[in-house]
Formats: sequence, C-alpha cells, structure tokens
Amino acid sequence: MARKDTRCPRLAWTKAGTSGRHRYNPGVAVTTRYETIIGIEVHAQLRTASKMFCPCATAPGEGQPDEPNTRVCPICMGMPGTLPVINRRAVELVMLTGLALGCHVETDAVRFERKNYFYPDLPKGYQISQYALPLSSNGRLEVPVAAEGTDVMVGITRAHLEEDTARLLHGGRGYTLVDYNRAGVPLMEIVTEPDIRSPAQARAYGEALRDILRYIGASNADMEAGSMRIEGNVSVREVGSDRLGTKVEVKNLNSFRSLERAMEFEVVRHTEALERGEPLSQETRGWDEGKGRTIVQRSKEEANDYRYFPEPDLPPLRPSEEWVDELRARLPELPAARRARYERELGLSPYDAGVLTSDVALADYFDGVVDLDIPAKLAANWVAGEFSRLLNVHAVDRLRASDVALRPDGLAELLREVEAGRVSAGWPRRCWPRRSRQGTLPPASSATEAWGR
Ligand SMILES: [Zn+2]
Repeated sequence: MARKDTRCPRLAWTKAGTSGRHRYNPGVAVTTRYETIIGIEVHAQLRTASKMFCPCATAPGEGQPDEPNTRVCPICMGMPGTLPVINRRAVELVMLTGLALGCHVETDAVRFERKNYFYPDLPKGYQISQYALPLSSNGRLEVPVAAEGTDVMVGITRAHLEEDTARLLHGGRGYTLVDYNRAGVPLMEIVTEPDIRSPAQARAYGEALRDILRYIGASNADMEAGSMRIEGNVSVREVGSDRLGTKVEVKNLNSFRSLERAMEFEVVRHTEALERGEPLSQETRGWDEGKGRTIVQRSKEEANDYRYFPEPDLPPLRPSEEWVDELRARLPELPAARRARYERELGLSPYDAGVLTSDVALADYFDGVVDLDIPAKLAANWVAGEFSRLLNVHAVDRLRASDVALRPDGLAELLREVEAGRVSAGWPRRCWPRRSRQGTLPPASSATEAWGR
C-alpha cells in the first residue's frame, strides 16, 4: 500500500520532503488509475553548407569569427523581388531521416506552404514550411528504455522541411537584439504520435532520435548548441478513458534531462489537479531549469491562426522513386541494428553495446580496434569504459572519438602490451591522457620503458 503522506498515492511519484520538488520514485508501484500521454516535437537544424533558399553559409568559415548578421542576403532578409531556390541537400536529408524512421517518403507533389505570423525573428513575415503534405510521414522508432528495462514503439507522424528563424538575444535592459545569421537555416520538424507513456520514455526517445540523426549525418543534433530543440506535449487521463486529458506543451528544454524533469513535473501537476477535481487549461509552458518547474507562457486562446497557403514562389517538389531508392541504399547501419549485432556476434553486454553505439564515431573507433585482432570484449572494456569516460571529461570541448590523437592502432598496441603481460593493466590508463594530446604514439618499446611494470 502506498504511503499515507504522499500527495498522489496511486502514482510512482512522491513529494520530496520540504523542498517541494517533485521527484520520481520508480520503487513505488506505477499508477493504476491514471495514464500519461506524451508526444514529442523535435526541430533539428540540417547539416548543409548553405541556407534553405539562398546561398548564405550556415556557419562561419574555418577560423572565422561568428559575427552576428554577417551571413545574410536579400533572399533570407525577405526583400521584395527576390526568389527562393530549394536546397537539394536539405531535401535529401529529410528524406534520409524519413527512411531511417521507416516513414513513407512522398513522391507526389509536395508543396511548400507559407506559415504567416509577425515577429521580429521572421524578416519575411512568414516562414516557408510544409503543412498539408509533409515530405515524410507514417514511420516508427523502436526505443530501448533502460530505466524501465523495456522497449517502446513510438509512431512518427511526420518529418517535414522548413526554415529556421532568427535568434533573439534578450539583453535584459529593456531591449532585444536580433541575429539573422540563423534566419533561413534548413530546419527539420519531426513529430511523434502520442505513444509515449512516461517521462523516462520521452527522454529515451529524444536520445535515440539524436543518435540516428548523427548516424545518418542529418544534423549535429546538439541540444546545448541549439541545433536540436525539443518540445513535449503532455496530458494525463484516467485509465480506460478514450478521451485525451488537457494537453500542455512544454518548451525551453535545453537537455534530455530537462525534458524528463519537465515531463515529471507536469505529470504530477496534472494528477494532483485531477485528484482535486480542478480544471487544467490547455497552454504552452516553459521549463525553468533553476527552479525545477514549468511556468505558463501563453494560453491556447491566444494561439495564432497561421493562414497557411501554398508558397507561390516555389514549384511543388516531386522526388523521383530512383532518388528515394538511391537514398535507401545509402542508409548506414543504424544504432539499434549495430547494438543488436554487437550483442549477437561479438557477445558484448547490452550496456557496453549501448554505450558504444550511442555515437557513430565511438562505434567506428571500437570497430577500428577490433579489426586489429583485439578481442571484442577487451576492446569494449576500454573503449566503452576509460576511453568513453575521457571523452565525457572533454564533452564541453565537443571532443569526439574521431578527434582523439590516440588512434585505434595506438590503443590496439597498448592493449597488446597489457595482454602479453609486458605492462600492468593500469598502465594504459596512466599514460592515456598524454597519448591523447600528443600526435603519435611512441614505439611500444620506449613507451614500455617509460611507463612499464
Ligand atoms: Zn541569404
């Protein structure tokens, strides 16, 4: 029986002492009376050299400073008389994402449409997007949820192509600055069905989608840098009801942890309101990371009518079947398949396989070590363990396995020394940071002399 002092005894949630913070307590039996319904919307900037409809670069050149309002032109500034031209690579990346998510890729006339609204981040007064007929739709993603020891199948409603808005910098002194470098950068929106049943599943979905976008090279999918942005739509209803509860949309989520915490907060808030018989309002809320709570941003009554209509300056897109087939053939092995293969063929533990395949650069590094006849389990111990830990230490510098100076052949050499008993198992760990910063690995003999025994 649930504890008496908790506010929502039927839930796997308890209020944490005096702090008032809501905390998830997986140890308590999961609710039998209420059900959580979550859908996720992701915006991901696509990895293209130029913007969606003009030749402006999406990022500063090598070694160039990132000065505001330097990557702009009459087209992305919405000057009268200019005409947009569709970025082929951006179209391709959305189709590739659709294929990776098992979507139907539309080869009929896909129209771009104008989404009209007035805001300083939108120089044209409208955003070119897709509405009635998206480029990709009707897919699914099987997501491993480690926290629940299960997999969940999440339906993908659509993945469509649009352009990003400018970045607003709120100065806090009564003015706001606008940087139009981001205006017109190719953006993909991926929307799920309301298939997600817990905050942990929401987080797992976000992470799985990020991994796929990186695997196929569609996006850097970096939440902190803003190249991947997530919104969670959450509602709670009584089990057995076929009506959805009042839906709340949560924005301002800067990490997967924020997503999970914000969803947890909302589930508790909704459940408590339902328990008390209080009405909830359909609204958009923002996540306050510092306070650990969501706050109202706007109610749905104020929602815009975007007056979508077909973009008159662009012809309909008609991707050929051959193009779609060519992209399908180009799809790399995806994280789930690679994870299964590591477990099945190399005998790795689900944990090691999960760590290694979460990042394509890390998985490739691991493959590089195994290809040099290092036993898979030994290689996994080091790459998923110490090597991965070092990468995490340097996560702020965005260091990836492909950037580390110690290449797979260097690690293989170190591990051979350990296996042969010429050096102790702790030796690679000690000299690793030096190797990582130096260009090449010294010959094993001199390394052994320097560090051995
Ligand atoms: Zn431009």
